[in-house]
Amino acid sequence: MKHYMYLAILVICQLACGQNFDPPPLNPDPLSNEGLTHRPHTARPSGGAVISGTTTSSANGRFRSQPVPRERTRVAVLGYHNFSATRPVSDMLLRTSELRAQMEKIRREGITVISMREFLEWRFGNLQLPEKCVLITLDDGWRSVYTDAYPIFREYGYPFHLFLYTRYLTGRGDSMSPEMVRNMMANGASVGSHSVSHPYPSTWRRHQNAGQQAYHAFIDREFGDSRRYLEQHFGQVNTYCYPGGYNDEAMVSRLPLHGYVAAFTVIPGKVTCEVDPLRIDRYMVFGTDHSIFRRAIDFGTQDASSRPSSSAQPGRVAASAPPPPFPVSPKPQSCVPSDVPTITAQLSGLSGINLSTVRMEVSGFGRVPAKLDAASRSLQWTPPCRIYMPNLSVHVYWDSTDGTHHRAEWSFSIDQTVTIDQ
Ligand SMILES: [Zn+2]
Repeated sequence: MKHYMYLAILVICQLACGQNFDPPPLNPDPLSNEGLTHRPHTARPSGGAVISGTTTSSANGRFRSQPVPRERTRVAVLGYHNFSATRPVSDMLLRTSELRAQMEKIRREGITVISMREFLEWRFGNLQLPEKCVLITLDDGWRSVYTDAYPIFREYGYPFHLFLYTRYLTGRGDSMSPEMVRNMMANGASVGSHSVSHPYPSTWRRHQNAGQQAYHAFIDREFGDSRRYLEQHFGQVNTYCYPGGYNDEAMVSRLPLHGYVAAFTVIPGKVTCEVDPLRIDRYMVFGTDHSIFRRAIDFGTQDASSRPSSSAQPGRVAASAPPPPFPVSPKPQSCVPSDVPTITAQLSGLSGINLSTVRMEVSGFGRVPAKLDAASRSLQWTPPCRIYMPNLSVHVYWDSTDGTHHRAEWSFSIDQTVTIDQ
């Protein structure tokens, strides 16, 4: 992810947390979320499908294709940030016309766009969905979501979910106001938490180093205060999105204490009903790389097929993945004594590789700006900050010159007994 962008946001939003924290009660019913509004979909014809085995009437008659048994559905969760018709694109900023083209592509492909409520009902067992679904999420609370994206979602009748970090919800500068959010909630938007202050990983780490009690108190403020604030303004909230995708066991274990039933990362991959609901994959749609979107809505190739959700998640090591077909560093399943490990894939042994398609993704970071040396064909990336996660998974993607997609993955761990006191 683009850490400098988050840094810029954090400069705007000083790290300041609420003072009066009281842990909220456990949420007894994860689906009793009336705050996730659902709008009637009128802009596009639906397939008139009949939902069997569901208690939800909201979905009846609007899916683009026939619902299937829950285990056959795959969902591509899309993550967006900022939009502009004129400003230079970046990973975080997508051309508005490109968003329209993507929404049109979803419609033409016959993919059903589901609401967060439908997603949760499917995950927790009440609802059947079509085979191919998309869930649209938008992070942070950029004003352009209201000015640029919202009219397009309305036009297509697509529901969407806003992950808001509450210190940015001011209506000043490039940020949205609560009024804008309420306006959109009347027309397809629902709301989840993206923390209070959007902490940078070094901030999480600093609190972690202050001891478990202090760390948990910090987590509780970011989780609890943001949820309370959002619920005061918008109704019940029970979803969370990890800022920058960073998460660890302490965060995951404390989410349910604050009433969250689902949390989203930045690891790309199709979501099945088996997904760990507190570490749900998402495709972050960058303004500079349209292949991410194409891959997200490609439900047909091997590359786009579902995989065990745990394979690229922080805190777990995918022991079952075959080793990469080229030398890598750190070695698969190794344990390294550094929390800023340089990750290298030596691709010189691969023949017929289309170099422009090579990319690297790292758990907790999503796609990373790895450098590919054209002469040596060494793909390399070093994290811009210390990594606090015990395990990392690396994915390298490339196309052959004949157009076939390839992926290799491996995992390694960080020896925190060595790095913790540095
Ligand atoms: Zn964010």
